[in-house]
Amino acid sequence: MKVLVINCGSSSLKFQVIDAVTEELLAKGLCERIGIDGAITYENVKAGTGKESSTPAIPDHNEAIRLVIEALVNDKTGCIKSLDEIGAVGHRIVHGGESFTSSVVINDEVIAAIRECSDLAPLHNPANLIGVEACQKLMPGTPMVAVFDTAFHQTMPGKAYMYALPLHYYEDYKIRRYGFHGTSHSFVSKKAAEVAGRAYDDCRIIVCHLGNGASISAVMNGKCVDTSMGLTPLEGLIMGTRSGDLDPAIVEFIANKEGKTVSEVLNILNKKSGVLALSGNFSSDFRDLEGAYKKGDKNAILAVDAFAYRVAKYVGAYTAAMNGVDVIAFTAGIGENSPFVRGKVLQYLGYLGIDVDEAANASRGDVIQISKEGSKVAVYAIATNEELAIARETYALTK
Ligand code: AMP
Repeated sequence: MKVLVINCGSSSLKFQVIDAVTEELLAKGLCERIGIDGAITYENVKAGTGKESSTPAIPDHNEAIRLVIEALVNDKTGCIKSLDEIGAVGHRIVHGGESFTSSVVINDEVIAAIRECSDLAPLHNPANLIGVEACQKLMPGTPMVAVFDTAFHQTMPGKAYMYALPLHYYEDYKIRRYGFHGTSHSFVSKKAAEVAGRAYDDCRIIVCHLGNGASISAVMNGKCVDTSMGLTPLEGLIMGTRSGDLDPAIVEFIANKEGKTVSEVLNILNKKSGVLALSGNFSSDFRDLEGAYKKGDKNAILAVDAFAYRVAKYVGAYTAAMNGVDVIAFTAGIGENSPFVRGKVLQYLGYLGIDVDEAANASRGDVIQISKEGSKVAVYAIATNEELAIARETYALTK
């Protein structure tokens, strides 16, 4: 069965077609600048026809989905002959609140519940729903599945997810920690247990998802027990442009000093902070930062060191939360590709009995073992694959 995976943002739409039985990637692409002007890239990966790009007008998501379908069934470069070959569509949905602890087949009630969670993710959920509804219009009768970024973290206990605020904020508004990147944390933690030769339900794993957005999770005996992002993705690690943890009083302090509104300050915390800010607005991209670090640029050194230090602090905290750790996995853009940053984090973790294999850390691959045989904690870099995880969930619910 072929599954179409859709990841719909406010002005972009990423898509992949995956053979859910063989788990082979058949085609992938991206619609961008939806509602602005429009651009689409598409690649039939299986046929190896190469990437093609064009700039048709894409006024809305309906048109984006129509273009995606047109590309998929194209005579020369399409990966399917007719839309009937798509057995199901898997949609990435950012926020499932407390309503969704796992993926679900989409029906009217599910759509209403996702809409209710829009309060918690006003930029993401409405865009995700536009994608669902556009697909439903053009592919009526094809089952659709919602896969939530938050669902994997719903197993966190109250002591981990509650903020120490008046209880009615939780009771009335559901203000609590939810966590994000759940599909990645779930995928990578399972893979980590597998490659370490451990039973998933009898193992303590820390997953460091280090990308432009970054989060870390503690997975104990197959269940997430803590994660670094909170009500929104702003909490936790220092990220590309997000501050991560800070003293909440800073918001009022900046607002008063600069005559800014709360939303203006939050915009700064989300989009103008993180390693971008610490590097003196040099870059949020670790490739640039590493280059500048190695040339001795003071701000780049501060940015990378602060980033790695925060990751190491969370690893320490989650080791305490689980009374130990058996496996640590690095993933996402930085975690998979930067031996430099992994090395900086691991420098703090010698006390755990981690024995780093420097040559292995410098190597590349979908799964690399960074710790030496006999290391007390096994450390890996593991390529995440959120689309495959979504396809698996979709297949499991619709086959
Ligand atoms: P993601 O959000 O997971 O796509 O990660 C994107 C980020 O990964 C980029 O902004 C870079 O900071 C980082 N990245 C990607 N490739 C490399 C690389 N080869 N070395 C260091 N950082 C990288």
